[in-house]
Amino acid sequence: MYATDNTPKSSHEPLGVYIHIPFCKSKCPYCDFCSYPHPSADTVTSYVSRLIESIRTEAESFVSRPVDTVYFGGGTPTLLSPADAERLLDAVFTSFSLLPDAEITLECNPGTADLSLLSLWRQGGANRLSMGAQSAHTNELKALGRLHSWEDVCRTVQHARAAGFHNINLDFMMGIPEQTKDSLLETLQKAVDLSPAHLSSYCLILEEDTPFGRRGAAALGIPDDDGMADLYEAAADYLVSRGYEHYEISNFSLPDKRSRHNLHTWQGREYLGLGIAAHGYVNGVRYANSRDLSAFLKGDSILEDAYTITPEEAAEEAIMLGLRLSDGIDTNEISRTTGVVFPPAFTKLCDRLEKEGLLTRRDARISLTRKGFLLSNQIIGALISEIF
Ligand code: SF4
Repeated sequence: MYATDNTPKSSHEPLGVYIHIPFCKSKCPYCDFCSYPHPSADTVTSYVSRLIESIRTEAESFVSRPVDTVYFGGGTPTLLSPADAERLLDAVFTSFSLLPDAEITLECNPGTADLSLLSLWRQGGANRLSMGAQSAHTNELKALGRLHSWEDVCRTVQHARAAGFHNINLDFMMGIPEQTKDSLLETLQKAVDLSPAHLSSYCLILEEDTPFGRRGAAALGIPDDDGMADLYEAAADYLVSRGYEHYEISNFSLPDKRSRHNLHTWQGREYLGLGIAAHGYVNGVRYANSRDLSAFLKGDSILEDAYTITPEEAAEEAIMLGLRLSDGIDTNEISRTTGVVFPPAFTKLCDRLEKEGLLTRRDARISLTRKGFLLSNQIIGALISEIF
């Protein structure tokens, strides 16, 4: 569906695949991801059947394209029954040309997968587990409306290891109501004691159309920008001191354990998005599927938006996404691939930002410093406005 007649330069580059499972046990009050709580078993099974159809159809357009990452995200993919998980994995492995060392990530919520379910996913080919742990403190998990406990996190990690998952990511949140710098550091210490290969530490964002968004930061007791910056710096200092590389604004990894799936996005590489609310970028076309579950179940098209990005948009995206990474961007490379020229005003602004300790430069390579990460939105906006 998303293939074009033009053969793009990247057509033989490995493709990522994202598969969205939009079901959760309950709806967290801060969440605006596409996830439906309390689905019936029949709905989930019908959804998986439709997903398998779309996997088979889409994969036909990409037979010659190797796939290097697959991400089962959500929602809570571990809510699938063993039978549904098995046939979904089988469809992925028999439809796409997966590279032998492909990274296959399963997203999971603590307490939603026991040893036998995790073993099934592992034996079916998943080799990385990403879990939304959020906090090690009961009051903070409660404030977030999460159903799990820290004991659930520890038990799920233990089961994941026993099932053969050695590449584990844990997600945490900063700015939770009632959270202090000490409680955050205690959470991260407990997390590091579990020896995950990767940690993500995100700032709580109040999304408009959510119960948290409606209550507002003041009523919830969420820190202001300075308070959030303090938490961010403390978390980054601690994780770096424990041997994790701060390779992206919110992400930390042991050597060679960066999230290859997310790198597809940050490095502007292509990926296919399958299922409702999934986004993708293939053959130069960015597209988004709608959240319409009933349309998807009926077999109707859920393609909501699709457009071919212009060279200028490609350059803008390369800057926006690339500067999230500690590796930064190579301006010569962006000019070579998009034809966009970086004007003297851009260089002048880089000079100033470098003097202010917000950015570093090595020849044509530019990257943000830790201080720069904290102001990334403003800095990236200013840099882009000097070009276009
Ligand atoms: S578990 Fe995750 S995806 Fe599900 S509602 Fe909560 S935050 Fe959203």
